[in-house]
Amino acid sequence: MYLKEIIATGFKSFADKISIKLDNDTTCIVGPNGSGKSNVVDAVRWVLGEQSVKSLRGDNQMSDIIFAGSKNRKALNMASVELIFDNSDHYLNIGYTDISIKRKAYRTGENEYYLNNQKCRLKDILSLMLDTGIGRDSFNIISQGEVDKILSNSSHDRRVIIEEVAGVLKYKKRKEEALKKLDRTHDNMNRIRDIISELESQVIPLKQQSSRAQEYLDNKKKLEDLEIALLAYDIYNDSMKLEEFKKKIVELDNLILDLNNLTTTNDNDILKKNITKEKLESKISSLNQELLTIVTEAERLNSEKLLLEEKEKNKVDRSEQEKRIEKLIEEKEKISSSISILSGQIEIENNSLGNLNKRLDAFEKNRFDNKSRKDVLLSDFSKIDQELISLSHKEMALKNELDNSSNIPRSVSSVLNNENLNGIYDIIGNVLSIDKKYVKALEVAINSSRNFIITKDEEASKAAINYLKEKKLGRATFFPLSVIKSRYVDDNTLIILGNCYGFIDVLSNLVTYDEKYKNIIENQLGMVLVCDNLDNAILVAKKIAYKYKIVTLDGDVLNVGGSLTGGSSNNYSRSNVTIKQEISFIKDKISSLQDDKKNKQELISSLDNDISKFDEEYLTLSHEIVSIKEKIKSLNSSLYTNRVEFNKINNEIDSLNLVVNNSAISKIEEITKKYYDKVSRRDILKNDIDRATGELSIIKDELESMNADFKVKSQELRIVEKEKNDIEIKANRLDMNIDNMLKILSDEYTMTYEKARDFYHLDVEAEEARSKVNLYRNNIKKIGMVNLDSIEEYERVNTRYQFLLKQQGDLESAETSLIDIMDEMDGVIEEEFIKTFNEVNEEFSKVFRELFVGGNAHLELTNPSDILTTGVEIVASPPGKRLTSISLLSGGEKTLTAISLLFAILNVRTIPFCLFDEVEAALDEANVDQFGKYLDHYKEKTQFLIITHKKKTMEYAKTLYGITMQESGVSKLVSVKLNDHIDTI
Ligand code: ATP
Repeated sequence: MYLKEIIATGFKSFADKISIKLDNDTTCIVGPNGSGKSNVVDAVRWVLGEQSVKSLRGDNQMSDIIFAGSKNRKALNMASVELIFDNSDHYLNIGYTDISIKRKAYRTGENEYYLNNQKCRLKDILSLMLDTGIGRDSFNIISQGEVDKILSNSSHDRRVIIEEVAGVLKYKKRKEEALKKLDRTHDNMNRIRDIISELESQVIPLKQQSSRAQEYLDNKKKLEDLEIALLAYDIYNDSMKLEEFKKKIVELDNLILDLNNLTTTNDNDILKKNITKEKLESKISSLNQELLTIVTEAERLNSEKLLLEEKEKNKVDRSEQEKRIEKLIEEKEKISSSISILSGQIEIENNSLGNLNKRLDAFEKNRFDNKSRKDVLLSDFSKIDQELISLSHKEMALKNELDNSSNIPRSVSSVLNNENLNGIYDIIGNVLSIDKKYVKALEVAINSSRNFIITKDEEASKAAINYLKEKKLGRATFFPLSVIKSRYVDDNTLIILGNCYGFIDVLSNLVTYDEKYKNIIENQLGMVLVCDNLDNAILVAKKIAYKYKIVTLDGDVLNVGGSLTGGSSNNYSRSNVTIKQEISFIKDKISSLQDDKKNKQELISSLDNDISKFDEEYLTLSHEIVSIKEKIKSLNSSLYTNRVEFNKINNEIDSLNLVVNNSAISKIEEITKKYYDKVSRRDILKNDIDRATGELSIIKDELESMNADFKVKSQELRIVEKEKNDIEIKANRLDMNIDNMLKILSDEYTMTYEKARDFYHLDVEAEEARSKVNLYRNNIKKIGMVNLDSIEEYERVNTRYQFLLKQQGDLESAETSLIDIMDEMDGVIEEEFIKTFNEVNEEFSKVFRELFVGGNAHLELTNPSDILTTGVEIVASPPGKRLTSISLLSGGEKTLTAISLLFAILNVRTIPFCLFDEVEAALDEANVDQFGKYLDHYKEKTQFLIITHKKKTMEYAKTLYGITMQESGVSKLVSVKLNDHIDTI
């Protein structure tokens, strides 16, 4: 390789472009002082990347190297220098045979480098030159007056020269880079270590918190799944049991009804039998009465006959007998009046008895009627109860549906349920109610807006929207009360509507709502008309020119402009309005049934009252009757006694009269005949009495058995009623239990029974599930308060922690491999350095002796024990002189010593190109000659470009260039071929 050309423009005194063409030989540049020769050296150094302005003999800024102007020339703004190398031997490790290196500098401060006219970085130039021996600081370029600097430099600087010769700079550079990397690695390791220890203090407690939170979630999930399944299972089973109970209650009700009927029939039969019995008893009593009368009559006749026979036998004085008759008549009259008094009293008492008996009959009838009415009421009562149970189930299910808001979008329900949001009222569909017949019309009218959320103002709406966005919960529409205005049907249209058949009203007038929502309701419904049916709606729409939306009671819609929407009732979905309507309908029904039930209950208790009153009065009446009967009996008995006495007196009178009138015998015969008549009648009566008594005994037996039967049935009825009562209590308990479970499902799990039943199934036995539910509950209680965010937080922190641990590991292995690499490079450097040092040392001693023609010189390591850092000292003693300090050598000796070292290096390592600026200036002619001769050694191997004033040196040059400064301040290049004429280029 050799330097083919130096091209400079605007560089220092080279205001005009100069091109120094060189060949692979020795070239001298000559010229007067100050003509610009050294500027050539500066130009070469500069283009190779020199950064020190001082080294380029500038003041303090790089723009000093740009042509500063002269007397006749203006300053330039740009300096450019280009070196062109012939690299056909590929000395430089690059694929080109010609290499151009160019540098440009502008006064504005910009600096550009080019490699083969491609813009590149300074670094690219430096690395191309590294270890080639031709860099900006290399020993191949020696500026004016700096040749012996090699001697005065520090031992370390000399070491660098040896290193460059050894070609280990690249290793040192790499080592430097590796060291920097190592430093960076250490910095990173420290940083990572700090973060790791910081994270460690978080990771451990977070791990514990997270595992507790996870444990809590696991238990909660298990509990939730199992409990929902268990609830669904229990609700199903309890519902089945409840149904069974209800069936049983109906069965028992029927049985009670039957038993009631039976006991009532029994009661009637007993009553009838009792009447028969009483009739028989009364018949027997009257027969006995007659018997008594007949027997008494017979006895009387007998005693009359005996009396007559005796009177006849003992006839006495007539006047005696007549006196006796008169006395008897007096007695008879007394008794007669007593008899009529007694008869009167008996009649009065009999009348009272008749009245009491009538009242008793009436009581009986009333009691029977009331009992029958009570039975009917009881049967109605149980039917009402059943209907009430079924209605309250229905109501519960609807309320559940309403509470769960299953028909409300998640976004809307999450806003409604968020207690942190202020000014959120409700959805439109929830604040309205309407008569049942308008529900369909309302449903279609608010179908799209029923889930719009009413808010206090725009602020409240904004906060809710931000919340939805933040939580990614979807969208919702908000109606701020402070913003939304009412909308109305205009007056003209209202007048037209007034005459339209089938028009009912504006929808906003048909709904009821809290006054504060007036604007919202009128905004949504104030321009919606309601018509009874589609036909009328079409006529109305025509009349008002399709100006307003019309809905019909069937849910058909005539939109503004005339389009129609309608069809089956499924074209709108059931909303809260319908559900609420149904709930209110059920509530009304429940309350009317409850009223009915209450009335019936009151009726039953009033009937019970009546019945018990009847019973009491019946008892009183019965007592009264008994006592009257007793009284009549006693009166009758007195009457009887009086009558007997009366008859006796009458008989005696008759007998005395007969005796007085002598007709006693015929009378005795007549009496005897009557007596036998009575005796025969007595026998008949006795027979009749016996028969009746027999019948009575049968009836009594029957009554006894009927009473026993009645007792059994009544007992049975009581048992059945008790059973029904027990079952009703159980059913109520079950009902409450089911309600309770539904409430748990709804409150704790926001779930309907249907969903729970369809999606949650028990896969273990219920009892096992129950004990597991308790276990999970206890577990959750034991776990206590947890921080659910810790799971995510732990995940995040731990991921980072693990990542950093891995990075720390990577950095540690990077550190190890960097240290290994550096150790390896140190080995190479040590080996190459010591080898090169020895070679240069040997050559130095040799060249020194040759140039000085004797003497001794060698190199020494300042610290041989540390090859990597040791400096290099020069020890030289010219011929005949003692080994002395370098600084004591003369100027020429110093120059020659330095040149010896230079040539020694060239002997060890081939340098393709050297640029020397007056290196031999201090040498005497003989030594210059020595120097010149030595240059010849390197012919073909090294190209020399030498700036010199010495003719002797010039003699060894193949080409001479002259630099002049003809035009004041601007250098010119003059080519001087030896033995040729001088051409100006
Ligand atoms: P000597 O033989 O004395 O060493 P020389 O030929 O090596 O002289 P240089 O040192 O190369 O001369 O050139 C110095 C000349 O370059 C000076 O005249 C100086 O004014 C001129 N010079 C340096 N920098 C600039 C610049 N930026 N613009 C114009 N001229 C400059």
